[in-house]
Amino acid sequence: MRKWFVVIVSLLTLGVYAQDNDPFVSVNKVLKLMGTRFEITVVAANEEIGYININEAVAEIERIEKLISSWNINSETSEINRFAGMRPVKVSQELFDLIKRAINIAKITDGAFDITYASMDKIWKFDGSMKVFPSEERIKNSIAKVGFEKVVLNESELTVYLPEKGMKIGFGAIGKGYAADKTKKLLISKGVKAGLINAGGDLTSWGTKETGEKWLVGITNPLDKDKVFSWLPIVESSVATSGNYEKFVHFKGKKYTHIINPRTGYPTTGVKSVTIFAKDAELCDALATAVYVMGVDAGLHFINQLDGVEVLVVDDENEIHKSSGVVLDKSTNFKK
Ligand code: ADP
Ligand code: MG
Repeated sequence: MRKWFVVIVSLLTLGVYAQDNDPFVSVNKVLKLMGTRFEITVVAANEEIGYININEAVAEIERIEKLISSWNINSETSEINRFAGMRPVKVSQELFDLIKRAINIAKITDGAFDITYASMDKIWKFDGSMKVFPSEERIKNSIAKVGFEKVVLNESELTVYLPEKGMKIGFGAIGKGYAADKTKKLLISKGVKAGLINAGGDLTSWGTKETGEKWLVGITNPLDKDKVFSWLPIVESSVATSGNYEKFVHFKGKKYTHIINPRTGYPTTGVKSVTIFAKDAELCDALATAVYVMGVDAGLHFINQLDGVEVLVVDDENEIHKSSGVVLDKSTNFKK
């Protein structure tokens, strides 16, 4: 999944650079973690300290991946999934809390975001091999095991139970945001005064660049992905984007993406990309997926009711829709 919608502009000069009149330097590293492209930037007193901090960040992201990944058969997540329909599984406080927060997001989004989406039967193919639209009944049956409200959490025992065989949870739409937030917290606790963590397009920042300037996020023109048409500052906050999937399938004149609505079993339509702005990357990540599933009207209505959360949606026709709090530069031209 390529992410061209959100581009970091603070890193136009890659690597290490220092200002003559400022003892701080910015150190930057790009690497593949959690199956995605991570870019870690820290502002440090010198290059050596910066690289030590970056290594600490990498270790933290690797630790989180081990904990939450459903690909890793030894993760707590895999254990929960393996014992679905059999017995509750004891987990760490960290995973328990993540699941609890994910279920709260599922509640407020009415299941548009739902970690049990992973229980869906994979009846849709997006590689062109699917010639017939699945029957109503197959679609309905495909979501039979989905439902965040089925998950049994036992707070005092720290156990998680998926009550149906074949039921699964997955953190694909929240894990990168969580990892970004958690890494930022770790670096702050180590005394890193500023930085930017970009987890495959989901990013979070603190402090300012070594020059004192704000970190900026570039919003790319949906009609020309090489052109940025607006720079937005992110101050002690986060941004995440869902969408811009390269692969679409057409059925009955409609364009479908590979994100399935866990409530209906149908792939979503109408939305090209969703960018969420909020304090924490975890919430941004999850809500971007939720709004993607909800569609333009319901999604905007939903975000407008939340404090401290804003959204930009690009629809199928490349029209841009924004929540009430998004103030864009006058020079920003959103017309086609
Ligand atoms: P990206 O992976 O491009 O950052 P998202 O943050 O939207 O995009 O996450 C998409 C992933 O989340 C999917 O690949 C899948 O693993 C998972 N997912 C898909 N639909 C949902 C949903 N409705 N609720 C929760 N997770 C989902
Ligand atoms: Mg997401």
